[in-house]
Amino acid sequence: MTVHFQSDYAAALPDLCLDWTSADCPDPRILKYNEALGGLLGMDRPEARLLSGHDLPPGTRPVAQAYAGHQFGGFSPRLGDGRALLLGEVRGTDGALRDVALKGSGATPFSRGADGRAALGPVLREYLMGEAMAALNIPTTRALAALTTGEDVWREEGALPGAILVRVAASHLRVGTFQYAAAQGDLEQVRRLADYAIARHYPDLAGDYAGFFAAVAGRQARLIAQWMLVGFVHGVMNTDNMTISGQTIDYGPCAFMEAYAPGTVFSSIDRQGRYAYGNQPLILGWNLARLAETLLPLIDADEGRAVERATRILEGVAGQYQDAWLEGMRSKLGLDGTDPGDRDLAEAFLVGIEGADWTLCFRRLSRAIDDPSALRVLLAGADRLDDWLPRWRARLARDAAQRMEAANPLYIPRNERVEEALAAAHEGDMGPFDALLAAVSAPFHERGGLEKYALPASEGFGTYRTFC
Ligand code: AMP
Ligand code: MG
Ligand code: MG
Repeated sequence: MTVHFQSDYAAALPDLCLDWTSADCPDPRILKYNEALGGLLGMDRPEARLLSGHDLPPGTRPVAQAYAGHQFGGFSPRLGDGRALLLGEVRGTDGALRDVALKGSGATPFSRGADGRAALGPVLREYLMGEAMAALNIPTTRALAALTTGEDVWREEGALPGAILVRVAASHLRVGTFQYAAAQGDLEQVRRLADYAIARHYPDLAGDYAGFFAAVAGRQARLIAQWMLVGFVHGVMNTDNMTISGQTIDYGPCAFMEAYAPGTVFSSIDRQGRYAYGNQPLILGWNLARLAETLLPLIDADEGRAVERATRILEGVAGQYQDAWLEGMRSKLGLDGTDPGDRDLAEAFLVGIEGADWTLCFRRLSRAIDDPSALRVLLAGADRLDDWLPRWRARLARDAAQRMEAANPLYIPRNERVEEALAAAHEGDMGPFDALLAAVSAPFHERGGLEKYALPASEGFGTYRTFC
């Protein structure tokens, strides 16, 4: 079946994108192709030159999307796709419409002097992280393919192999897209954008802009709760990296926390810890306030009333986040129903595991129903949970052990394994990447021979620093 790219976005919102094409590249080759996702999109494996944005089907109208954004708190009125290109939308076999976009396809009018390229390492990292998150049942964009371009890109480290990520998203609408439209000072443009976003993601809310804002807030609150429950640190929660659909997007310097510490930061550019693990729920509210600002005139012509409504919704976000988090914690701890003491029980567990491996503490907890010795090994002060465990056992669901294994992953993209996989890929060996991808693609199901994927970094690995 030949693929057909629709141009819904380009047709509906021409002022929020520019027609553009991908830059030439000498030798595009498919390095990884996601057969399962391709199947969902109803496409046979395309040629490399199609996936690199070159030999596109007739009628395709690729565009670079405009958006603004608060980056580390400071507003940039014009960011946009500086190295990305929306090929268009594809209607999947499940009936859903999804964006297919390239990242690393060359400079655009939004490049602001940068090269528009992507290096192999970050492209493979994004591929891996997206698949891991999808397997963890966390809303996410996903990679359809990773290509090498046959060209070098220059970064601080020197010349690196150039690559293109083919990314599939529910859409690429961002909080920053609304900020861009609002910054143009044209309310009708914001309205067209909101109507488009509602039709695409919240079709029951046509014309209800307050309801739309509340719905986005609810999805983002649940998303951040899910990140927190698996120990995911996004690293760049700028408003241009927050989607309207509620999917995780833009896996840059992200990583999974190993030793539990709320202040965990991996990104080398996040010097103040603005996007530290434990700050993510606060940033959620901050970013949603920026979205609310763009929607106020649509919510109510009377500014005072609009502010009042938006504020009420925003004040509910912390509660929605807390509820989603606690619901997830109940699953992780094997609790049935609800009990007023559950939050306290969950928080007391977290106090008990500070400094220990987040993923393994939860995974081994199900065994601690009978025998806490495997859990104790993880805790430096072995008796730290001795008071907690009897309290927890008294509150446990009957079939808790099994249910906990379905809620607590064993295989996450561990930092040392990710680095090992990317280093091997640079040497032309995709074996470690493929093995890691296979492990994290079925994260809950323990298999033989995968022990090293379940272990924290070795001591020699040191402090983990990630780069954009
Ligand atoms: P990010 O940090 O990836 O979310 O990107 C923030 C902004 O910088 C977006 O507008 C990107 O398109 C742009 N950008 C990042 N890297 C490049 C690059 N190599 N060339 C052009 N634009 C880039
Ligand atoms: Mg245009
Ligand atoms: Mg981004």
